[in-house]
Amino acid sequence: MVKGIEQIKADILIMGTGGAGLMAALHAYDANPELNIVLSVKGLAGKSGCTRMVQGGYNVVLDPDDSHEKHFKDTIKGGGFINNQELAWTLVTDATKIVYELENKVGCFFDRGPDGYLHQKPFAGQCFDRTIHRRDLTGIEIIARLRDQVFARDIQVLEECRGLDLLTRNNRVAGAILLDIRSGEPFVVNSRAVILATGGGATMYKISAPSKEKSGDGTAMAFRAGAEFVDMEMLQFHPTGLLAGESQLSGSVLEEGLRGAGGRLFNAEGERFMERYDPDRMERSTRDQVARGAYLEIMAGRGTRSGGVLLDMSHLGAGFVERTFPGMVDRVKDIGKDLAREPIEVSPTAHFHMGGVRIDRDCRSNLEGLFVAGEDAGGVHGANRLGGNGVAESTVFGARAGDAAASFVSEYDLSAVDDAQVNAVWQETIRPFSLSDGEDAYGLRRELKLLTWEKIGVVRSREQLLQGIQRLDEMKDRAERIKVKGSRQYNMDWNEALNVRNLITVARMVAQSALIREESRGSHYRSDFPKTDNDNWLKNILLIRDGKEVIRLYGKAVMFSRIPQEEIIK
Ligand SMILES: Cc1cc2nc3c(=O)[nH]c(=O)nc-3n(C[C@H](O)[C@H](O)[C@H](O)COP(=O)(O)OP(=O)(O)OC[C@H]3O[C@@H](n4cnc5c(N)ncnc54)[C@H](O)[C@@H]3O)c2cc1C
Repeated sequence: MVKGIEQIKADILIMGTGGAGLMAALHAYDANPELNIVLSVKGLAGKSGCTRMVQGGYNVVLDPDDSHEKHFKDTIKGGGFINNQELAWTLVTDATKIVYELENKVGCFFDRGPDGYLHQKPFAGQCFDRTIHRRDLTGIEIIARLRDQVFARDIQVLEECRGLDLLTRNNRVAGAILLDIRSGEPFVVNSRAVILATGGGATMYKISAPSKEKSGDGTAMAFRAGAEFVDMEMLQFHPTGLLAGESQLSGSVLEEGLRGAGGRLFNAEGERFMERYDPDRMERSTRDQVARGAYLEIMAGRGTRSGGVLLDMSHLGAGFVERTFPGMVDRVKDIGKDLAREPIEVSPTAHFHMGGVRIDRDCRSNLEGLFVAGEDAGGVHGANRLGGNGVAESTVFGARAGDAAASFVSEYDLSAVDDAQVNAVWQETIRPFSLSDGEDAYGLRRELKLLTWEKIGVVRSREQLLQGIQRLDEMKDRAERIKVKGSRQYNMDWNEALNVRNLITVARMVAQSALIREESRGSHYRSDFPKTDNDNWLKNILLIRDGKEVIRLYGKAVMFSRIPQEEIIK
């Protein structure tokens, strides 16, 4: 045991309390209430992460006229055919079971129609109306009830405790070293299994939608530990993020329904620019097309002064907009604007990472004892996630990870912690305090945001990506020279330094994978390879650390295990 570092023993350590982390805790406990489960979260339990922010809803097959086959096909088509079909099939089939569980066991209330059945609304990319919801606050309903259930059980919840690094021995996970943000003290959880559910987070971009405490920690931790990743280049941008200067609301999503209802997009020269990119569907085009159109307008100098385009709802009538989109009207009111009566500045906003740790149906990674669920995992959504499939993924795979980890720990003993590793991680973590002169974490984060936006963002090219990778390597060195002052207790500058280091790692993984994929597919658009190339690129790009922070990449043909290629690609 390392002197001065407390050590806790547990059966299962879970990091993150979004849909995935809470479901995992619930399932692991209910599988075996004797298990000692520790649940740690960087923010507050039930008050952090993106599941709480889910507005639209949850895709699930409930209606006899719908089917799992239909949901599956929608998911595969939406994903540009490169999804892991076993994971996608698990998503759609388990979602039905999990929604019944959320209603009947967890206690969630979803909206019902006049017939008494759960109300299902349409969502983009789906051939059937299958999205259940709780008004436009679905995520709060799910997370609040899940949190209550977890608090009612004998599960140790450690709030404001962030995972720093996974501890491994011989390709086997032995727990993690964590930081108690409040006290500034480290501690080790020596566990038989770890469930990673920190929710990815596309927050390295200039404009982004996920909750602000997320900084790709799980991705970076898993990378350093030697986990294998899939399709890290696949990162979704939502076309209409609110632009509000330095406000924390900048980047938050103005929902898809606004365009669906007839909202129009203009550039600063007053042109409805979608005429240039998709004249048939205009603003009702898909997320990736609209985001790309807006981005190209902004980059061509036809954006507004603060770098956006304009979303106009006023022609639909103020009464209609206020009645139909009260949540969106309120959100815009918070920045002093009136969605119902004036054009609002918006921009594409980084939204969701489809890439992540490669898992099997039970969330097992290549590292023994490491289970990964939710946005930290990859493969379910392929090149593009359908709206409504994200929260389904987090609850379905969270539940599976909890079940699988509970059964795993019944067969495996604790693996001893390597003190030298603990010591090395901690020394690296506190290094910023030892520097009297060095980089500023916030300055570096600002630079990183601009760099990712311009070089590895909505539109990419070989030249941009190479420049991006070179700058990221320089930034990685600079991140090692970040200096921090003051006490370790609740030191947000220090936490930002740790965030930046992880975000640079994630950005580097995205850039490197994006460089390899010489085609455009789903959310990945290469201006030098603008076409989808099914002859050469029905492949997944796998990535693993090879030596110290060196990335090894290789392609693997997509397995059409559930539906033959000729049947789905017409
Ligand atoms: C604005 C917005 C709207 C969305 N709307 C929808 C929708 O309508 N339908 C849909 O299906 N999907 C939607 N999504 C996507 C959906 O939110 C995600 O797919 C899903 O919630 C991810 O769940 P998760 O459990 O993996 O992560 P999260 O819910 O993000 O939870 C991550 C947790 O990990 C914690 N954490 C982070 N770092 C650490 C660390 N180092 N140590 C310990 N804990 C850590 C966080 O504090 C948090 O508790 C939306 C996303 C956003 C941003």
